[in-house]
Formats: sequence, C-alpha cells, structure tokens
Amino acid sequence: DAESTVTEHLYKVLVIGDTEVGKTSLVRRLVKNQYAEGYKISVGADFALKIINWDRNTVVRLHLWDIAGQERVRNLSRVYYQKAMGALVVYDITNDTTLGSALSWKCDLDNKLRLSNGKPIPAVLLANKCDQSRHSPSESSLLDKICNEKDFVGWFETSAKENINVKEAVNFLVRHILLSD
Ligand code: GDP
Ligand code: MG
Repeated sequence: DAESTVTEHLYKVLVIGDTEVGKTSLVRRLVKNQYAEGYKISVGADFALKIINWDRNTVVRLHLWDIAGQERVRNLSRVYYQKAMGALVVYDITNDTTLGSALSWKCDLDNKLRLSNGKPIPAVLLANKCDQSRHSPSESSLLDKICNEKDFVGWFETSAKENINVKEAVNFLVRHILLSD
C-alpha cells in the first residue's frame, strides 16, 4: 500500500548569522509557531526538530542547529558544520553590519563544508525583521547580486514576529536540499 513507500529524510540545517538578528525567533516561529519579544536563550547550541510532510511519499525531518551564543566566534569548528545539508544565513535589515557578517558566515561555511560534488551546501539568505521597514527595489537587486556572487540559492525577506515568509524560505531551502541529496 501507499504507506509502505514513504521515504523519510533527516537533514541537518544550520542557522547562522550575528547575534540578535533573529535566528532563535525564526526557529521558534517555524517549530512552535510562537514569538516572544526579547526571548533569550542560554549559551550553547540549541536544537529543534521540524517535521514537514513534503508530499505523499516524502517526509522531511529538519534538525535545526541554532548557534545560540556562539555568534561571536564567527568561525565555528568543522565538527559543528559536519554533515549539514543546508543553511539559513540570517541578517537583520535594521542593522547593516549584520549583512556583511552574514556573508562572512557564508564564506566560513563554504570553506569548511562542501557536498561530495564540491559544490556548497544549499544556503538561503534571510533578510529578517522585514516588519520594521520596507525594502526598496535597489535593495532587492543588491540581494540578487549578492546571492549570485556568494552562491546562495536565494534570499527571502522574513519576519519571525509577523510570521512572514518563514515557511516559504524553509520550503525553498528543502526543495534545494532534496535536489542536491
Ligand atoms: P538571535 O540572537 O539571532 O537568536 O536573535 P533572537 O531571536 O534572540 O532575536 C533578537 C531580538 O530581535 C529579540 O528581541 C527578538 O524579539 C527580535 N526579533 C527577532 N525576530 C524579529 C522580527 O522578525 N521582527 C522584529 N521586529 N524583531 C525581531
Ligand atoms: Mg539565539
């Protein structure tokens, strides 16, 4: 019967970017559909599981690795990156320096981890806190350019607060992970 043909995938997904950009809030929105202002979590890595019933034959389990409190290090160990299949690289649109940092995070990731074919693992750039300001067309063409140059599979404006594009961005990432797996 149909039940017996379901394939389950377990994928490790890294959530990286500077402190305060909203990584933990995005994970909480995705997994619990909750948002709490000023929510602070303790130091260490934080793990969350998101189960997606992708289609009739496919279940995807995302093991989300949120680098809680390790943002200052800026270069995590290879061991931390090991076996990740995708990444969400987050910046805060209200804080310009966090975009530059996001690109540094992406470089560090690509230096430490590659798919077996030598390509970078799929990574999506998240322009978070989009509830705070409207982006201009020039900003979106800049982000298009950055994605091209830095090998992101795409970018999304997101808001953990208002629940904008969080699911969409993750589904987009999963689509790319499934293609590269
Ligand atoms: P992290 O350090 O990257 O894990 O960031 P947090 O998830 O702890 O969020 C840092 C701060 O930004 C907290 O005060 C959050 O409430 C706030 N924040 C997170 N996401 C959003 C968002 O989408 N919109 C707004 N306005 N604030 C957000
Ligand atoms: Mg956090």
